[in-house]
Amino acid sequence: MPDNALSTPVYFDEHADLGILKDKCVAVIGYGNQGRAQALNLRDSGINVIIGNIEDEYREKAIGDGFKVYSISEATRKSDIIMILIPDEIQPEVFNKDILPNLSENQVIDFATGYNIAFKDITGLNPPEFVDVIMIAPRMIGVGVRESYLSGEGFFSFVGIYQDHSGSAKEILLALAKAIGTTKKGAIETTFEQEAHLDLYTEQVFGPAFGNVLRNSIKVLLDEGYPPEAVLVEIYMSGELSFTLKEMAEVGIVEQMDFHSPTSQYGSLTRGANYIDPKLPEIMKKSLKEIQSGKFAREWARAQKRKKDPLKPLKEAAKNIPLVQIEKQVREKLRIKPKDI
Ligand code: NDP
Repeated sequence: MPDNALSTPVYFDEHADLGILKDKCVAVIGYGNQGRAQALNLRDSGINVIIGNIEDEYREKAIGDGFKVYSISEATRKSDIIMILIPDEIQPEVFNKDILPNLSENQVIDFATGYNIAFKDITGLNPPEFVDVIMIAPRMIGVGVRESYLSGEGFFSFVGIYQDHSGSAKEILLALAKAIGTTKKGAIETTFEQEAHLDLYTEQVFGPAFGNVLRNSIKVLLDEGYPPEAVLVEIYMSGELSFTLKEMAEVGIVEQMDFHSPTSQYGSLTRGANYIDPKLPEIMKKSLKEIQSGKFAREWARAQKRKKDPLKPLKEAAKNIPLVQIEKQVREKLRIKPKDI
């Protein structure tokens, strides 16, 4: 493993001063998962926040929460800092149509992911040189951003500066990060590219590889005749796995083993080597190269242009495997109530 020298800055509350935001107006564009959470946290931190949203139920929600809501163009004109919290796929179109023509010198644009800037030649989102461009990318879903602010725990994020026209981008970035609640836990400095690559890597490499191990583990047991109800609960449906992952994050990969029985520890420590596949890192590197080179971003852009809903056939195919049918029956039998998503 290369010796990466832990030299990346990590910012905490004491590194940020909210004073720089005192006379500023922040426009949160989009009032969805991240938009609502970040807007409420900013307001509770004493920041002047307005919302920019199209006419729909999210707009009504923002009004219900007591915010002044404007069109995206108007919110852009009225504010000093514009936080773009709409889905990534629509950002280039909305930016070019509603935000770009209304920008003025020294405004600040904040993104919650580096994707559209990291791949700007593909996405077509090019901020003008007369604004600051910063990023606060939470490693947390919107509900968690709000709940961890209220509990005082905070949440991790990746923060970065793409463009510092005003000369104050860093102070503004850190103040916003503090007001949202992320410096309470830790804001880790990355470039926009690093953030986007890491995000895509988790989605395209770790996630599918882990999913494949999970499915194979289930298949072996079902093929051997073990009861599906017990197999699914054993492997993931009990929720024990998520506790283990949480313990890993909190105490360490090896240290969390102390929460398990000596039999469990002996078994996993002596059998782990059976699953070392020397080909796996090579396959993972190949996927990373596709991410770094923009091959994935180009493919995704083409897929969105070609079909109205490119995800639909992929999701249908994913649902069309025997495990999904078994899972449905087991969930019903175990009276696991469907959750609204
Ligand atoms: P959501 O899907 O929750 O955003 C919904 C918001 O976008 C609503 O206000 C919606 O308003 C608006 N919107 C949707 N379509 C349009 C459109 N065509 N024109 C104008 N507004 C539109 O987004 P997220 O909160 O999930 O993501 C926002 C940003 O945060 C993204 O950059 C994402 O990568 C990042 N992020 C998200 C995380 C998450 O957990 N979800 C975690 C970390 C970062 P309307 O209904 O009116 O269209």
